[in-house]
Amino acid sequence: MNNDAIKEELRAKGIKNTRAKSTLLHILQNNKAPMDVNTLHQECEKITSVNLATVYRTLQQFHEKQLVQEFLGKDSVTQYEYINQNAKAHPHFQCEKCDKVFCLGELNFDDALYFSNMVNNHKIRSINITLNGVCEKCLLSNS
Ligand SMILES: [Zn+2]
Ligand SMILES: [Zn+2]
Repeated sequence: MNNDAIKEELRAKGIKNTRAKSTLLHILQNNKAPMDVNTLHQECEKITSVNLATVYRTLQQFHEKQLVQEFLGKDSVTQYEYINQNAKAHPHFQCEKCDKVFCLGELNFDDALYFSNMVNNHKIRSINITLNGVCEKCLLSNS
């Protein structure tokens, strides 16, 4: 893990660096899809001993500092995803069979404009779109 970059990112956000926090940030940064708190906890445990409450608290802090975005997945389970500072908002697809969450393509300028027009004078802070269905893999294993 690139410790210096992680330390620097925590410092830039005004977050005190602890082993639990740097481990969690490392996992979030290296994962391509959002994960729920239990999965993140399991991944942390592979690297260092962290209790679930700490993982939960750290995610809350990361969310407040805009390091992660959260959204409600299936059965209202919160999923967490690292916010790449250069990335644009993108919708997600969640499979009803295997519960896996996939990141879809980034929204482009026209999409963003479309939403701004839709909300009139309200101000958009974040965009959360989750499409539900059956993923390709589950579709294939069904037939
Ligand atoms: Zn599936
Ligand atoms: Zn995503």
